[in-house]
Amino acid sequence: MKFGGTSVGTPQRMKEVAKLVTRKNEPVFVVLSAMSGTTNSLVEISDYLYKKNPDGANEVINNLERKYMKHLDELYAKDESKAVMTEFLREEFQYLRSFTKELFTSFEEKSIVAQGEMISTNMMVNYMKEQGINAVLLNALDFMRTDKNAEPDPVYIKEKLQTLMEKTVEENGKEPMVYITQGFICRNAYGEIDNLQRGGSDYTASLIGAAINAQEIQIWTDIDGMHNNDPRVVDNTQPVHQLQFEEAAELAYFGAKILHPTCVQPAKYAGIPVRLLNTMEPEAEGTTISNATEYGKIKAVAAKDNITAIKIKSSRMLLATGFLRKVFEIFESYQTPIDMVCTSEVGVSMSIDNSAHLGEIMDELKKYGTVTVDTSMCIICVVGDLDWSNIGFETRVMEAMKDIPVRMISYGGSNYNISFLIKEEDKKRALQSLSDTLFK
Ligand code: ADP
Ligand code: ASP
Ligand code: MG
Repeated sequence: MKFGGTSVGTPQRMKEVAKLVTRKNEPVFVVLSAMSGTTNSLVEISDYLYKKNPDGANEVINNLERKYMKHLDELYAKDESKAVMTEFLREEFQYLRSFTKELFTSFEEKSIVAQGEMISTNMMVNYMKEQGINAVLLNALDFMRTDKNAEPDPVYIKEKLQTLMEKTVEENGKEPMVYITQGFICRNAYGEIDNLQRGGSDYTASLIGAAINAQEIQIWTDIDGMHNNDPRVVDNTQPVHQLQFEEAAELAYFGAKILHPTCVQPAKYAGIPVRLLNTMEPEAEGTTISNATEYGKIKAVAAKDNITAIKIKSSRMLLATGFLRKVFEIFESYQTPIDMVCTSEVGVSMSIDNSAHLGEIMDELKKYGTVTVDTSMCIICVVGDLDWSNIGFETRVMEAMKDIPVRMISYGGSNYNISFLIKEEDKKRALQSLSDTLFK
């Protein structure tokens, strides 16, 4: 069971999580995010320190400390737990303050942003113990690890976790009811503190689910499952009850924030269903992500912002071989992944979401032809069982997009999506029209 930032966002919410975790009286492995807003504050502290502004950093640290100290009064009933946690928080905030005197690099930043999850898990395990729950905290830094390519190392994670859990049973005399650990944080191949990217607690949950061969992986958040459109943009979106792993991965990658895109793969490989559930409404059905396909059904729409489109036109491409390789190699040399690709006989259009090296990429592309760039674009992705033998879905999607200027269209790369590249300013209109046409 993974609980996101909002789900542990206040002491009251933490109390409800403790109830949820123990309501079935079955052993569970719990992964927690930092309390909502905390990771952002830790990033803010780091930004001040990069800019050599210790006063700015100290102000954020002091505000955060005051907020957390108040939480203790609300969360714990016993003076003893309050005292233990007051001491814990004092040390935590002293640790954060120690960085204001040091040379600041990304190594220090990683240590700072890891503290949100350290605090939330310590608060939770102590609350559970106060409630008489047999709960044990495992430190994610002792088993969650990435390799030299910054990819999680599933063999190491599984072995380490197994050893730690066996040791716990030995020390505890029996299997604890609840294991708790931090989402998001890990160590890298060099043993340094690192993380699985913003929103990466979902990934932690799925890696652990696979490592312990869990019955299912539950992602508890603030909404009742994956909705058929972005609820932040479109009114009256509805939860989708069933998604195939690939469908969920496409939606997550193309902007459905409820799920981190990396979360799907470990679960899919291990064949473990993922359920998206609402902490505020635990009885709601939510979304089950599994191998089950619903034949011919369009499931949902998502949108990814901040996209740049690049077109290169060259008469040299006509009947030539190796042109695409040359173009793609340029993107590869700047570590810039390409999302969408459309080709014609004399040109190729691509979209990227990381424009950090756009200038250099353009300079190199210009050696091969005329380059055009469109910024502030957005990818709209329609997801479902869209195998090419199912007829009619293209017409329905095109009908919805009939009033929207479209820069690129992509279909056929997978059986699960059709994507459109449009201007960001047309996003709301496009999403609304797709909801009206596809889901009414
Ligand atoms: P957590 O902190 O629990 O990880 P997130 O904020 O990462 O939660 O994800 C939940 C949010 O995702 C929801 O509050 C919702 O606004 C947003 N969201 C975006 N697209 C979708 C979608 N298609 N379905 C459900 N939620 C979505
Ligand atoms: N706390 C981290 C973040 O805010 C990780 C997570 O919540 O998944 O990005
Ligand atoms: Mg999230």
